[in-house]
Amino acid sequence: MNQPPTSLRPLVLLVDDSIINLRVLDKILSPDYDVRTAPSGTAALEMIHKDYLPDLILLDVIMPEMDGYEVCRILKEDEATRTIPIIFLTAMDNVDAEIKGFELGAVDYIVKPFAKPVVLARVRNQILLKQRTDMLEKLAFLDGLTGIPNRRKFEEHLKDEWQRAMRNNNPVSLMMIDVDHFKQFNDHYGHGAGDDCLRRVARVIGETGNRPGDLGARYGGEEFICVLQNTNATGAFFVAEQLRSAVAGLAVPHAYSSVGPVVTVSIGVATLIPDHRHTVKRLRELADEALYAAKEAGRNRVSVASFCAEDETL
Ligand code: GH3
Ligand code: MG
Ligand code: MG
Repeated sequence: MNQPPTSLRPLVLLVDDSIINLRVLDKILSPDYDVRTAPSGTAALEMIHKDYLPDLILLDVIMPEMDGYEVCRILKEDEATRTIPIIFLTAMDNVDAEIKGFELGAVDYIVKPFAKPVVLARVRNQILLKQRTDMLEKLAFLDGLTGIPNRRKFEEHLKDEWQRAMRNNNPVSLMMIDVDHFKQFNDHYGHGAGDDCLRRVARVIGETGNRPGDLGARYGGEEFICVLQNTNATGAFFVAEQLRSAVAGLAVPHAYSSVGPVVTVSIGVATLIPDHRHTVKRLRELADEALYAAKEAGRNRVSVASFCAEDETL
């Protein structure tokens, strides 16, 4: 018990102070799900926060120390745990108790003693709903054409990274990436070939950056964007140069580019350490200006914004 899952089966957490109930439910559910058990509300919260998140919680209402309502309230208040569906389990067969559970955000209610097929059906319904919601949420953050994160995902991520960098006084680097002469590519090879090309370029961008906070996304059209966590201008230039060279290395023929015989990208890089003077908006403007400079200087190149946070500390 309480080890990492050995399969991709949904994870159900059972919380009940009665060991017998835990055993019975475990037996009912374990043929179809990975089951964890917690003998108290405190133990459940500890497991959820130390461990990974369950797909569903079956939560007893009456428990000593912390009751199920309190556990539910704590989980619903926390951004990280509020979407975990909770089914209350209780011997109390009264409407007020049921309503209280729903008001706290529970998705369902099972009255003890439970009938095995009812438990199975209710759990299955909630797991199916959860899986569908998770999938839709995932799709909402992916670009439909290329499959890499989309602009919406990027905006959320950048906001978080910016806050984190501000707390730690770390630099954030941004790369704006634009495919060179892509209009000519489309005009001559067709829109389908253009889409294929964007997918190939996107794959390279999706693989850029090694740190957990690094993220590459499709910004729109033939523009991509990438944030590099705790990376100074020198490091960002290095990553951008690798990316530029990797795209050229795809060797997608582009006979109508003024740059060379293959598809290339221009990249604008900017770096700032967030504080009250240096906003995320400024970081974008600087990266945009650098991209413009890269285009002006002949394309297929990386240009670094002339102002960087490090300038002040050098
Ligand atoms: P530059 O080197 O200055 O960036 O020139 P460009 O031709 O790449 O820039 P421009 O902004 O003039 O043209 C961008 C083109 O990208 C126009 C549009 O047809 C194409 N494009 C944008 N989104 C898509 C897409 O999803 N699929 C395809 N195939 N083409 C796209
Ligand atoms: Mg463009
Ligand atoms: Mg372009």
